[in-house]
Amino acid sequence: MKKLLVMKFGGTSMGSAERMRVAAGIIAEKHNQRPLVIVVSAMSKVTDLLLESLRKAEVGDRTAVDSNLDLLLKRHFEACGELFPAGSEECEAATVDTHALVSEFRRIAYGVLMLGERPPRSVDEAIAIGERLSSALLAHHLRATGIQSQAVNGSDIIVTDAVFGNASPNMELTRQKCVTALLPLIEAGTVPVVTGFNGATVDGRPTTLGRGGSDFSASIVASALDAEELWIWTDVDGIMTADPRLVPDVAVLDELTYAEAAELAYNGAKVLHPRTLAPLVAKQIPVWSKNSFAPHKPGTKIVSHFDEPKGARAVTSMSNVALVSMEPANSALSGTRLMARALDALALANTEVLVFTSSSYRQTFCFLIRKEEVTVALEALEANLSIELAHGYLKPIEVDENVGLLAVVGEGMRGIPGLAGRIFTAISRENVNIIAISQGSSELTIGIVVRLDTLDRAVRAVHEECELNKLALTAAKSS
Ligand code: ASP
Ligand code: MG
Repeated sequence: MKKLLVMKFGGTSMGSAERMRVAAGIIAEKHNQRPLVIVVSAMSKVTDLLLESLRKAEVGDRTAVDSNLDLLLKRHFEACGELFPAGSEECEAATVDTHALVSEFRRIAYGVLMLGERPPRSVDEAIAIGERLSSALLAHHLRATGIQSQAVNGSDIIVTDAVFGNASPNMELTRQKCVTALLPLIEAGTVPVVTGFNGATVDGRPTTLGRGGSDFSASIVASALDAEELWIWTDVDGIMTADPRLVPDVAVLDELTYAEAAELAYNGAKVLHPRTLAPLVAKQIPVWSKNSFAPHKPGTKIVSHFDEPKGARAVTSMSNVALVSMEPANSALSGTRLMARALDALALANTEVLVFTSSSYRQTFCFLIRKEEVTVALEALEANLSIELAHGYLKPIEVDENVGLLAVVGEGMRGIPGLAGRIFTAISRENVNIIAISQGSSELTIGIVVRLDTLDRAVRAVHEECELNKLALTAAKSS
């Protein structure tokens, strides 16, 4: 749709009545200028609370479930009380909606309590209630301020596969639903407030898109409706050259490419859900990452390409990772076949490989995965290679959890001789030992595995060596 702007407000931007007022102010300003669709997260920490309630329900702790339900009601009633004049029509309607949604959550939580287990489909149905609560509140608030608005449940417009907890969209079916459900609203001047995070299978079973998935919902909707732009409102000034908790002089990047932003997200930068950019690439829909606490700052623009590539752009790190090493014990076992079997097992276990390196002579190889995936990955590896392990063709699989990953990202690193050397020298100057290195032929990212207790030092050294703090000057000039 021509000029359509999709804006997504994250958990902190929806975190209180005051923050919702700010969001509504931003919406009101844009509503005068162009067609809008809003996508929202649950109020901050609500998804955690819902998940924790279900875990408590599973182990039979009814007291904890009830006290969490009280917290949930209190948090949303408090917001209602501050957003609407007591006794007003919208106050009444928002209160009724809040009650109904919390009751829906209670029904599922009590079901889990009774069963003593948490079926994934019921978990997805239950945790999406966080977004349904926040979207209802914001839509009522917009109406109370004179803007026609309607809450829309993501499960009515995003069609996904049945991978509960981490579903993927079927874009064609989703497009049809978005067009049918949202376009008439937009054309009538109504602002749809869509719940982020959730969808449903073709046969209507509720799903969610993975933690932090509201960004992904927003990009799915933007792509489905051929939006002109997607703006993602968060609580930081944009995408930074490093984590500001680790590096004192970080800069906010003025621009990044889709590929760079996706690499940063997959390598641990928290600012965007990793899968957000994929639906936008083909249609070249630009994304802005902006701060709802400082709405007039320019933020970071994510675009399809730069005319002039700009060298290293940012360094990220991940500490919740484990390095798995495998080595044939016998030359009769082909290393290549072993790698194929190992990768096959990892794929079956739905494990994401963050770094993979091998050495050809002894055919040993190692790969980095998330710590929380170690148990399922090992089960899958041991099952797929049980004969080789039992007969001593393969040495026992080693897992080292005392490691961290650092990733340097930038399209402009391609073809620059000496850059990797400078990065390694800077790291070694800090007396940090490099355990594994990976760089693909795209030269977009250099991944470096180091001991966990040296990770932060290494990040600072690389940030300084690549002079990433100087990118602040570019950002400042453009603002
Ligand atoms: N509320 C969901 C979460 O906390 C989705 C999101 O905020 O993006 O994971
Ligand atoms: Mg988020």
